[in-house]
Amino acid sequence: MTRIVGIDLGTTNSLIAYMDGQTPRVIAGRNERGMVSSVVAMTDNGLIVGDPAKEHLVRNPERTIYSVKRFMGKSLEDVSEELTYFPYKLQEQGGVIRIQIGDKTYSPPQISAMILRELKRRAEEHLGEDITKAVITVPAYFNDSQRQATKDAGLIAGLDVLRIINEPTAASLAYGLQKKTQGTIAVYDLGGGTFDISILKLKDGIFEVLATNGNTYLGGDDFDRTLVNLLLNEIREQHGCSLDQYPDQMQALRLEAERAKIRLSDEQKTMVVLELPSGHGVFRRQITRDQLEGLTTALVEQTLGPCRLALKDAGLQPAQIDEVVLVGGSTRMPLVRRRVQDLFGKVPHSELNPDEVVALGAAVQADILSGGTQDMLLLDVTPLSLGIETMGGVVSPLIRRNTTIPASAKEMFTTYVDGQTSVDIHILQGERELAQDNRSLARFQLKVPPLPAGVPRIEVMFLIDANGILHVTARDVRTGLTQSVEVKPSYGLSDEEVERMIGESFKFAAEDLKARQIIEARTEAEAIIKATEKALELGGHLIDSAETTAIKTALAELQAARAGDEHRGIRARIADLEKATHHLAEVLMDTSLKEALQNKKLSELT
Ligand code: AMP
Repeated sequence: MTRIVGIDLGTTNSLIAYMDGQTPRVIAGRNERGMVSSVVAMTDNGLIVGDPAKEHLVRNPERTIYSVKRFMGKSLEDVSEELTYFPYKLQEQGGVIRIQIGDKTYSPPQISAMILRELKRRAEEHLGEDITKAVITVPAYFNDSQRQATKDAGLIAGLDVLRIINEPTAASLAYGLQKKTQGTIAVYDLGGGTFDISILKLKDGIFEVLATNGNTYLGGDDFDRTLVNLLLNEIREQHGCSLDQYPDQMQALRLEAERAKIRLSDEQKTMVVLELPSGHGVFRRQITRDQLEGLTTALVEQTLGPCRLALKDAGLQPAQIDEVVLVGGSTRMPLVRRRVQDLFGKVPHSELNPDEVVALGAAVQADILSGGTQDMLLLDVTPLSLGIETMGGVVSPLIRRNTTIPASAKEMFTTYVDGQTSVDIHILQGERELAQDNRSLARFQLKVPPLPAGVPRIEVMFLIDANGILHVTARDVRTGLTQSVEVKPSYGLSDEEVERMIGESFKFAAEDLKARQIIEARTEAEAIIKATEKALELGGHLIDSAETTAIKTALAELQAARAGDEHRGIRARIADLEKATHHLAEVLMDTSLKEALQNKKLSELT
């Protein structure tokens, strides 16, 4: 069986982990560090990835890319307010951000792939085998295009990304919380540059994201900055030296401040020693933990507001949280731990290394996927969209892929033919536009009383429960008659098949869309033609002959357009016919017929 690795592709640091028997382990590089800095430098001597690239941040800022995760799956407009933070150049091509380095441009997935390749290389060296399959984590708030961009990065790096999972879900898995089967979990993640709080609900071993909040520009770097500012002032006052003029010394001061901050998580006091530029001597300063806490209290307080908001969105009180998990290096600060403990009223989990916990959880998920751990089902999102077939063989999706489960959705449909006595509910799974290209899950019929087309209201409801079972119910709103079915969408579906189905939806996207547009336009045209003919039959004598002629002309033009394959042309003729029949519809007293003419917006069932 091929091994699947778990990857935490972070904003500042990335890690790769695997299952060593029953224990997840992070793979360290030659320097013994498990983390690879998420930094890429394109130097004259070639590409440098990870910690060594960090040295180029000061010397070569325009060719050294960091924080690329912030740009994944985004357009330039999405990040316009953040651009001032970055020294490298960004531009847009076809709605996608490109990062300019020298005379070349790179997409964020391409840059992320460089980091992934470094992780892959590390794992291959350590394990002595090819690594081709991975689970990659993303923040819980990542949308579809950000998740897709992450998958693309994997693909570019030569990795088959079997699953994208939420970082807080991974952290919970690392602590084995899924074994508790029930409960609510708060995952507090304070890294170097970002803060995320996620509230999860665990039911039957499945994680559902109830709420997320945070601050994408708050983290350990801000803590360092408060200390740097204090030291800069003191150096200026005591040594008459403005360090901001010396980029190398500034960088040294930043690193020194960060190291002092880290030491103060274990010690009560520490010394900062810094050699100043020529002639200014050496700066020495003792700092206590109390002093650091005084400087950073306001920043830690800034994380608590989002925690309260997330709790509110989840409809929970702090006391209703069963488990609190700490993620990110900055949660090693005793002040952070105290404040989180105060807020939730319980001791947070901190036994595992907070820098590693997400990667470790990704390895646990990878193990579950590879069949290593068989006692649980882990579906925290629906891998493929679920919907029903509507007139003309097109799909109307109700639950989109990557929706966290349990999930539900409701939509109203109507009939296509006059006097139709039943509707066919055909449940489909997949990403393609036409029913025939998707996976058929189930089919049933609902009886409806014979009425003119477009009049019945049929409500279709989809519900995927925590066990991944899909319950579909169709209800005739007028009669209250219902019919339902239960299916297991994951039944007999392998990860490879999911991959293939998603892949094909991209491959055929343009063709599919075209086919769908033409089918929908034709279906709508047919319904309107039928309704108009009927309206003329019933009410033709109530309007004058000029109006009748205008309607007949519009009708003939729509019929001609319908035979072609230009959906825009058909739509334009539909609009013309609607305009021409507007008065007739008003004149017609039969309200049901009026509905038939006017309520063409609902999709019809066969
Ligand atoms: P991450 O992005 O999760 O790797 O977090 C990195 C951040 O955690 C950086 O700002 C580090 O300075 C900070 N950090 C790492 N270890 C400690 C520690 N022992 N005490 C305080 N902050 C730490």
